[in-house]
Amino acid sequence: MRRGDLHLRATSSLSAVVITVLVMLAMLDVLFPLPLQNLRPKPSQIVFDRNGRILRVFLAPDDMWRIPVELDSISPALKRAVLAHEDKYFYYHFGINPVSVIRAMIADMSAGRFAQGASTITMQVARMIEPRERTLGGKMVEAFRSLQLELKYSKDDILAFYFNLAPYGGNIVGVGAASYLYFNKSAIQLSIGDAALLAAIPESPNRLRPDLRHDSALKARDRILCELVAEGIISPDQKAEALSEPIPTELCSLPFEIPHLSTSLARTCRRSDRITTTIDADVQRLAEEMLIKELVPLRSQGISNGSVVVIDNKSCDVLALVGSGNFFDKASHGEVNGALSRRSPGSALKPFAYALALSRGLISPLSILGDVPVNYCGYSPKNYDGKCLGAVTAKDALTRSLNIPAVNLSAALGENGVYEFMRRAGVSTLPHPKEYYGLPLILGGCEVTLLELTSMYSGFANLGDFRGFRLVTTDQLPAERRLLSAEACYIVSEMLAGRNRPDLPVSRELAADIPKVAWKTGTSYGRRDAWSIGYTPRFTVGVWVGNFNGRGVPELVGSDAAAPALFGIISALEENTNGAWFVEPPGVDHRQVCSVSGMPLSEYCASARDEPCIPGVSPSSRCDTHQMITVDKRTGYVLCRHCRTGHDCDERIVEQWPVEMATWMQRNGYPVDRIPEHNPRCPKVMAGCAPLINSPQANCVYKLRRGVETDYQKILLDASASNRAGKVFWFLDGELVHCGASTQRVFIEPKLGVHFVVCTDDEGRSSEVRFSVK
Ligand SMILES: [Zn+2]
Ligand SMILES: [Zn+2]
Repeated sequence: MRRGDLHLRATSSLSAVVITVLVMLAMLDVLFPLPLQNLRPKPSQIVFDRNGRILRVFLAPDDMWRIPVELDSISPALKRAVLAHEDKYFYYHFGINPVSVIRAMIADMSAGRFAQGASTITMQVARMIEPRERTLGGKMVEAFRSLQLELKYSKDDILAFYFNLAPYGGNIVGVGAASYLYFNKSAIQLSIGDAALLAAIPESPNRLRPDLRHDSALKARDRILCELVAEGIISPDQKAEALSEPIPTELCSLPFEIPHLSTSLARTCRRSDRITTTIDADVQRLAEEMLIKELVPLRSQGISNGSVVVIDNKSCDVLALVGSGNFFDKASHGEVNGALSRRSPGSALKPFAYALALSRGLISPLSILGDVPVNYCGYSPKNYDGKCLGAVTAKDALTRSLNIPAVNLSAALGENGVYEFMRRAGVSTLPHPKEYYGLPLILGGCEVTLLELTSMYSGFANLGDFRGFRLVTTDQLPAERRLLSAEACYIVSEMLAGRNRPDLPVSRELAADIPKVAWKTGTSYGRRDAWSIGYTPRFTVGVWVGNFNGRGVPELVGSDAAAPALFGIISALEENTNGAWFVEPPGVDHRQVCSVSGMPLSEYCASARDEPCIPGVSPSSRCDTHQMITVDKRTGYVLCRHCRTGHDCDERIVEQWPVEMATWMQRNGYPVDRIPEHNPRCPKVMAGCAPLINSPQANCVYKLRRGVETDYQKILLDASASNRAGKVFWFLDGELVHCGASTQRVFIEPKLGVHFVVCTDDEGRSSEVRFSVK
């Protein structure tokens, strides 16, 4: 046999052995697969902020604290300490270190038992995922598991498994949880001293817990530091510095931020271990501090709670969500999440009625709205202070939060009003059909949550795109949900940004440094809720203040109770921005309107004001309040083109108001142009405005209450007549029942059945309504 053959045979028999071993290993691997689920046990559920900061950690299902960390998020000091202490040749062996196995075997034989560990980090991982008795058989299985691990995973993977599975005493598993609970740090922030302590603990976790066994832990740490110097891993100076560091004497508490949101998210996202919220921890802290500060003076007035929501308009991300003033305050139900509580919005919905009316061309900012008593089939809204202003601009009506113009606008919007708008914007708290809420909806006769209301306002800031909001970064929002025109949103924002208004908090009036903000306050019926919601192009901030038990307090007014926190938060948020305002959309133009009627100028208007408008949409008919009349110099009668000829006459410009406003103004002593009667000899009957019957309401059904004398159940006859009219005549079922001044109120006795009432003025113009009595 030649030498070459021998070599060849030896090589081939060696490869046969290797192949046989590999085949056996592969078979064993199939027969006894690694318990993979134990490599990555169910961790603690962790809630993060948008920048990866831990906001809240929950116990894992087996009551352990586990905060998984990647290898590159672990301090290099800890990696070096663990490698030096546990397994110097970790990166060079195949899971088992033959040198130390032989050394251990000799030691074991001489001791007559298994004394020496000889465990590599891989073997320790194998033991952690499958704890066994320390017998020879146990060791064999451990060695086999180590080979499996080494074949399946990289060295770094195995080291990461070690760091995440190692026990650190009690129910603390892995360096992630240990770093937080012992040092209140993340694993990347550990010092050399911290690292030495954490490298020591897993060896005997319950004996070396620093919070319970201070001296043993200190000794173990110092021993490791000595090892590290001996190995040349740290310098003597570093050692001296580390030795001087104290070791923890008690456990730190884990982060417990945004408790309301994190608790509810943990419940709804039970399946996910890591919940990355859209919250910005800095903004959250700012909102919490500002709310707590503003609640201090309110507590003495019996107002105990509040909530705040901050939304980043561009992304629709919720940056802060404060559920209550103090989560732990049991007496004021601090655990309730006020941002998700359903409350009456008070006046906070009004801007949506104005925006819808602007976008449909029903109004422009200076349009005159009637603020006079109205009656919608028995419903007559009253203003906050019970007074009326007669005629106000839309802008003033909105910023002064007048109820009557808001209800009138809401009624004018008809079938496609604020209710439909809210449903389309995704408001989830309107369970009933529209009829259930009726016209009082716009005054807060419904429920909203602060979160959804703030999100609705951020739709204004997004110039009509009402996409909703996100709390978790994995949530998908629709690309766009355009519910209003950019022009209407821009104009409403301008209307809401004025400073000269009653709900600007007193303390802020002098502060010139607040950025330009569009805002609205609201106070619910019975003063149970105070709201303040405001926005800039970047942020929308919503503040609610009140009591969770719904107790009303006289001091609870949106402007006083909730607006200071709103301005405080917005000012702080905008401090480092350039405070830019919205860019005027190209569809917005500016025009001159009559300063009395708010309508485009006619030749008779005396003065003008400037307003933004939407060409092609905004009301375009010219001022008809200022009219030119011709008066007979001798008789004083008004003349028209049919009866003017042959008279000596003067021309005069007068203000002519709609009948209901004219009547109200006359009744309330406002100076109203008395327009003389029309020339009785005129061949044409004037086709002007007929009287407007305010009561009884058309098609109204009056229900007689039994047992009450009809004398106490009389029906009011009330009409508004043009200021040209002198007298009105009332007919009930064709019979004249009264004749007198239009400002006079008349009552009739109700009779069962269907009736019709006619009101005629002295120029022959008449209106009629039908009503019934049951
Ligand atoms: Zn005018
Ligand atoms: Zn005439």
